[in-house]
Amino acid sequence: MKLFSSIEKKNKAIKIMNNKLSIYVCGPTVYNHVHIGNIRPIVVFDVLLRLLRTFKVDVNFVHNITDIDDKIIKQAKLENKTELEIGNYYLEHYKSILEKLNISKGIYFPKVSEHIGGIVKYIEFLVKKGFAYKVDGDVYFSIDKIKDYGIISNKYINDLEVGARIEENKSKKSPFDFVLWKETKSGLNWKTKFSYGRPGWHTECAYLINKYIGRSVDIHGGGVDLKFPHHENENAQNIALCNVPIAKNWVHVGHLTINDTKMSKSLNNCVYVKDLLEIYSGNAIRWFFYQTGYSNPINYADEYMEQAEEDISKIIDDINMFKSYLIINNELRPVMLSPSIFELLLNDLNIPNTITFINAEIKNAHIALRQKEYDTLNLKYNILYTLLNVLGINIENIHTDQNIDLLLKWDKLKSDRNFVQADVLRKELIRNKLI
Ligand SMILES: [Zn+2]
Repeated sequence: MKLFSSIEKKNKAIKIMNNKLSIYVCGPTVYNHVHIGNIRPIVVFDVLLRLLRTFKVDVNFVHNITDIDDKIIKQAKLENKTELEIGNYYLEHYKSILEKLNISKGIYFPKVSEHIGGIVKYIEFLVKKGFAYKVDGDVYFSIDKIKDYGIISNKYINDLEVGARIEENKSKKSPFDFVLWKETKSGLNWKTKFSYGRPGWHTECAYLINKYIGRSVDIHGGGVDLKFPHHENENAQNIALCNVPIAKNWVHVGHLTINDTKMSKSLNNCVYVKDLLEIYSGNAIRWFFYQTGYSNPINYADEYMEQAEEDISKIIDDINMFKSYLIINNELRPVMLSPSIFELLLNDLNIPNTITFINAEIKNAHIALRQKEYDTLNLKYNILYTLLNVLGINIENIHTDQNIDLLLKWDKLKSDRNFVQADVLRKELIRNKLI
């Protein structure tokens, strides 16, 4: 399969060795409810995970949880709770959102607070190798020793220094050196030989990749806004420690705007997923994302979400109707599908064109149904069901034993020419979205 590489800036074939692949996607800082922009990356990478699993690839998918952060301390003070309480509360909230969005099971969520010992050893090793230095109780990473610094974000030190106006800490050797360990006694802190303090964000991901995946991850994903400095800094540490880039492939998901302006907490225009889920289904949220290629920016507006709900509901109703007619005619059976149905997805997850293909197949299925070509209808049904499953669309099974009995009863009434009773039953079947 191919994915768009952020470094090469073109589609690049992904090498899958021994049918195994690792994916790391930077996770949330658990201090608040997630907004719609926050969840786009995990939805995109869930489609990738589902696609790989369809081809029986064994995927090690890690998604970290940052539960130590200044923002969490601030929120804890605001809510009069401990930081761990805040972290756990918003982590559970995040997981419940992922469940409602039908994100696959089997993703591993390591919490930073449970890995401090390992992170400290990691930082000590960077100091020992001469890539990090201490300033009082803080530890900084020295980026001038990394010749590829800037390769992911296409930003280079010389260009950066021109634009650098504010130097946050005069004691750093370069304004772009970043903190690995920050001395602090406010909020959760740990005693180390450096000082009482906490690890820096960039070092958490670098350490977790080493621990749970190895020297480098096959696919490192995240939002495009994380390219710089976060991903550059993850990569720099790994080059220092392991002498290889942290990722074989970098894949970035485009950012989200609301009514064409930036969505941010400071602008107070965030659309929270929990609020959307009061109105729309998880399927509709996914379908909204799918209208735009994952690496492009996407714009949110209520009318797009309404349209997405309408479109995906109609598709699900059609699929359920096809299934009903296949059951009535005793023609529903599994089919061996050609891998070519995944061609668009295998080519850099082309979801918008996959949707066009799905819509065309729905039309074909309607034609097959009208012409009573049940073999074709069964094939189309299987294609549609499989593709929607890879896209993470949750199709509730409405064909319960009771509903199947109703369908068969309706068919019998029709063949007995009992049209009055058949019509009464038909109305019930329509109400239950079975036909
Ligand atoms: Zn990260």
